[in-house]
Amino acid sequence: MAVPKRKTSPSKRGMRRSHDSLRVEAYQECPNCGELHRPHNLCNGCGHYNGREIVPVQA
Ligand SMILES: [Zn+2]
Repeated sequence: MAVPKRKTSPSKRGMRRSHDSLRVEAYQECPNCGELHRPHNLCNGCGHYNGREIVPVQA
């Protein structure tokens, strides 16, 4: 089995981990009900997208 010759330095380890962080998800307010939803996605609160109701809301 191939084994690394040297221990990874703190600098190299940090370079590798520079891409590991989680991104903050984008959110917008729904123009219909004011709830937060992802852009280009259906609103979870009222089922609206682009100014009209796509999915009827269950009461
Ligand atoms: Zn909404």
